[in-house]
Amino acid sequence: MEDFTNIEEVFGKNAFTFGKMKEMLPKDVFEEVQHVADFGGELSKKTADIVANAMKEWAVENGATHYTHWFQPLTGTTAEKHDAFITHPDKDGKMIMEFSGKELIKGESDASSFPSGGLRATFEARGYTAWDITSPAFLREDATGTILCIPTAFCSYKGEALDKKTPLLRSMQAINEQALRIVRLFGNTGAKKVTASVGAEQEYFLIDRDLYLRRTDLIYTGRTLLGSPAAKGQEMDDHYYGCIRERIGAFMKDVNLELWKVGVTAKTQHNEVAPAQHELAPIYETANVATDHNQIVMETMKKVAERHNLTCLLHEKPFKGINGSGKHNNWSLSTDNGMNLLDPGDTPNENIQFLLVLACIIKAVDMHADLLRQSASDVGNDYRLGADEAPPAIVSVFLGEQLDDVVKQLVENGEATRCIGGNNHLETGVSSLPDLLIDPTDRNRTSPFAFTGNKFEFRMVGSADSIGDPNVILNTIVAESFCEAADRIEKSDNFDEAVHDIIKEYLSKHERVIFNGNNYAPEWVEEAARRGLPNLPTMLDAVDTLTTEKSIRLFEKFGIFTKAELESRKEILYETYSKTLNIEANCLREIIKRQIIPAEISYMNELAETYNNGTKAGVEIKSAKEILEKVNSYCNSLSESIAKLEVDLKEVRTIKNNKERAFAYRDRIKERMEEARFYSDELERITDKDFWPIPSYGDLLFEV
Ligand code: ADP
Ligand code: MG
Repeated sequence: MEDFTNIEEVFGKNAFTFGKMKEMLPKDVFEEVQHVADFGGELSKKTADIVANAMKEWAVENGATHYTHWFQPLTGTTAEKHDAFITHPDKDGKMIMEFSGKELIKGESDASSFPSGGLRATFEARGYTAWDITSPAFLREDATGTILCIPTAFCSYKGEALDKKTPLLRSMQAINEQALRIVRLFGNTGAKKVTASVGAEQEYFLIDRDLYLRRTDLIYTGRTLLGSPAAKGQEMDDHYYGCIRERIGAFMKDVNLELWKVGVTAKTQHNEVAPAQHELAPIYETANVATDHNQIVMETMKKVAERHNLTCLLHEKPFKGINGSGKHNNWSLSTDNGMNLLDPGDTPNENIQFLLVLACIIKAVDMHADLLRQSASDVGNDYRLGADEAPPAIVSVFLGEQLDDVVKQLVENGEATRCIGGNNHLETGVSSLPDLLIDPTDRNRTSPFAFTGNKFEFRMVGSADSIGDPNVILNTIVAESFCEAADRIEKSDNFDEAVHDIIKEYLSKHERVIFNGNNYAPEWVEEAARRGLPNLPTMLDAVDTLTTEKSIRLFEKFGIFTKAELESRKEILYETYSKTLNIEANCLREIIKRQIIPAEISYMNELAETYNNGTKAGVEIKSAKEILEKVNSYCNSLSESIAKLEVDLKEVRTIKNNKERAFAYRDRIKERMEEARFYSDELERITDKDFWPIPSYGDLLFEV
């Protein structure tokens, strides 16, 4: 591993940035590329060839042997197929490396083994990858060599989206168009583009790799299916922001270097709440680039962990009883001439454009809370949302004191004349400490969708999930309310009145989604029900929100998804759920039957021998007998619960209907697994550590 001292030199070294293109390409070619990147359209064949050649020259100079169209199928991870830059040798057997514009822009692959949710029959196998010119290609260096990775979108032969990126790019177009209408109405005629910016804070666990390899549940499912809590958990709050241990620090250093090289702005790192849990946050960037980069972050963390004989767990809930991991999706909108639409300024009550934008966002979130919730759901996140560490599954908006007060004034009086908390100073009571101006509002860690100064932070997203889906939803639902507002304002002959009416109307109608209290409190669930807010507690409850009439209308209006694409995504979600639960159940069954029960049989044998030997020697070893009886009883219950699990599994697997099968897994299999886990965890508590066949929570969480 090379060392580094100067981030400036390292940063972006392995990314084919616009800066590099500018240096390497003729001026007119570069301008064409920049224009297409900014405003869409197609590169001419000639330009594409020149860009491809420059990209190849640069890549080869830096050691690349292969290129790949790098894409994000609906598995939620990334996919790649490498092609060497090799071409047919000439008659002397000499090979000349080539890379054409066509190869850069378009890839064709057999898509039949990627999830399509019935969009294609298996015989309709063609899938196409198309270059996303706005996201820089990068070089990945690892044991495979150096690979040029070209970010692409992935579609079927008929142009249906088979990935996470295509709809995201579509949604970015929609929000751009609609937000531009708004800023232009407010006189910003210089703006040519509005971009959604995203910063994704990533949580993860690191555990020792040797221990990991002894836990098949972690290997197959990413989480522990059994394990009794360690003597110490997170109750001391001593891990959060704690001093970073050497082994972890060395990992972080390597991760940063790898990320900086490919142009990912890894910025913040710290220990998180749970033992062995950490966080990495980059600086925000354009939504699609941020989405690509978050995938790179996750991949890099996994890869670098191995080098340090560690394993990085990205599952939302690897360990029962301590916090799981999520992702905070920070989102804002800004124009190409430097205006952040979510910046309230010092006196938000006077910032009419901001108030309109805010009202539109609140309306969007209230109208489509179900879709937002859906976008943050995956199998693992069901263990997290609503479990005292993450926001509940009920979507609400936190505005903070200052904006809440402005909204109240607007709803009650139709105008907001005052603004609180603008000029507060931190009072430490120590004269030598600096006099700090503080933020107008405090934080609220419990809210799923919180306004944090000049952005919204969507906190429900799962740690392993792509941030593609949540940003598709955010962009699209806000585009819809911008569109409605712009339609009304454009038609009106009194701008001020129209804007004023819309703000008042939207805020009054959708105020119910604003909640500034403690979202973890059980009373909130009741209060939310009274307010009529949807509560979709699990992933499966949220799947059908994709194809309600309201959703189809929304997605079709802005060209994000067709009805067929939505139907297909639903099928994939149901399938994924069943498959995941099936793997988990198989895995649990296997560990219990092949590791736990055999170990307990040996242990019982030892206890019985001990007891008998004692008796022979004239001493009754009562403790051996007591433990033996307990172990035996739990072991019998454990065997019975596994037998019941097997019966249920057999039945559930035969259910033909995709949705019904998924619900059966949720309602029947999960419970059975919990029951088995209960007995196994009880056994762990009373079994000699030398006999327990797998590493304990204590080993996994504290021995890194
Ligand atoms: P915290 O949430 O802990 O207050 P930060 O304020 O540093 O942390 O921001 C967290 C993430 O939000 C970072 O990735 C940061 O780059 C991103 N972020 C900051 N400002 C914006 C913005 N205007 N739009 C989108 N993301 C932003
Ligand atoms: Mg945050």
